[in-house]
Amino acid sequence: MTNETNSDDVFVVGGGIVGLSIAWQLSREGRNVTVIDQKQMGKGTSWAGAGILPPANQKNATDPLDQLRGLSHELLPIWAGELTNETGKDVGLRRCGGWYLAESPGEMAAMIGLADYWSDLEIQVERVPLQEIPRREPMLSQWARGEQAIGAWWAPDEYQLRPPQYLKVIQEACRNHSVQLREKCKVTAVREKQSRPQICINGTWHSCEQLVLCGGAWLSQFTHSQGLGNSVIPVRGQMLLLKTQSPLSARVINVGHRYLVCREDGHILVGSCEEEVGFQEGTTPKVIQGLHHFACSIAPEIRSATYVDCWSGLRPMTIDGFPMIGRIPRLDRTYVACGHFRSGLHLSAGTATIIADLLQGRNPPICIDSFRVGKQMVETHRRS
Ligand SMILES: Cc1cc2nc3c(=O)[nH]c(=O)nc-3n(C[C@H](O)[C@H](O)[C@H](O)COP(=O)(O)OP(=O)(O)OC[C@H]3O[C@@H](n4cnc5c(N)ncnc54)[C@H](O)[C@@H]3O)c2cc1C
Repeated sequence: MTNETNSDDVFVVGGGIVGLSIAWQLSREGRNVTVIDQKQMGKGTSWAGAGILPPANQKNATDPLDQLRGLSHELLPIWAGELTNETGKDVGLRRCGGWYLAESPGEMAAMIGLADYWSDLEIQVERVPLQEIPRREPMLSQWARGEQAIGAWWAPDEYQLRPPQYLKVIQEACRNHSVQLREKCKVTAVREKQSRPQICINGTWHSCEQLVLCGGAWLSQFTHSQGLGNSVIPVRGQMLLLKTQSPLSARVINVGHRYLVCREDGHILVGSCEEEVGFQEGTTPKVIQGLHHFACSIAPEIRSATYVDCWSGLRPMTIDGFPMIGRIPRLDRTYVACGHFRSGLHLSAGTATIIADLLQGRNPPICIDSFRVGKQMVETHRRS
């Protein structure tokens, strides 16, 4: 990376789905944007994600996260169409619908509550009698007849996205809008000097007009001096990819925190788990075997599926569970968009719209008070 920058440049640190979405949105508004990543663009947590976008509806939503989810849910299909128009490529977004299965009294209670809540939000959800399942979803026939099956719901407005495909296409769209994508540049610190944001790479400070930090699970590593050194915690998730000769389904099947994402080409993504192991990436035989066992318990045909791959990703979790979206207190032109935990793929388009609005001096479309940057730190200090 050179030291030559224009005064109207925006730097985005982190080329995951959040950073690339912000870069694309700002570049479409005519801004000069540079995205900087310590590794390869689009190969962080976003690449590892399953790409489940559960149903959402902004209308009637009072919970801040549900408002953001609803906003993103409206935007993502529009963005997918625009990305395909710009590049001629499919991003893999499908309105496939999702099954929600209960196997224990706890899961049953949680699903009854969720279905009621969704109905209040005018999100379509249907409780399906177990005897109807074999006709509606042949892949779940054995499950529905088994002892563990106690309840099933169908949510037609669930989508699935193929993250690696989406990330490739949005990078191409960024390049088409002259966004500079700088790989293998590790940012070690950030600061502002006379209201100009600066980032440090290899001991050299680079200035820009506005700066957006989208470092995912690694954000705290380079924002200590701005008081965000404890704001994001990495939570590892593991994933198993299988392939059947012909597709068993093309839907998402959710059971508690675990799921199967059935792709239309016969791939089945099985996830996941939550592990606090610091920045340690990689998979463990115990978890991967557990995921395989879980998948086979849902559809015994999966026993003959071919193993394709397994991997892990580090989800960025904040202390209060809300993402951080906004300007860093005490700084004038440095913003953060980070901490989306299990939902960053889903929340990316809404987050990018909000950040673009803030940088361009407009009011965001939803209230973002709950996403205030640094809030988590203040609350931690108050408690201690
Ligand atoms: C197993 C698993 C399943 C998931 N499933 C879903 C799902 O179904 N639906 C959903 O919505 N979400 C899902 N998620 C969550 C989602 O993947 C994340 O919330 C999202 O990817 C976060 O995006 P990001 O852009 O903030 O982070 P990342 O994609 O990690 O991007 C951050 C980037 O910043 C770069 N970076 C970090 N530090 C520096 C530095 N110092 N200098 C330069 N660059 C730096 C990194 O290299 C990285 O590329 C899942 C996550 C996992 C792990």
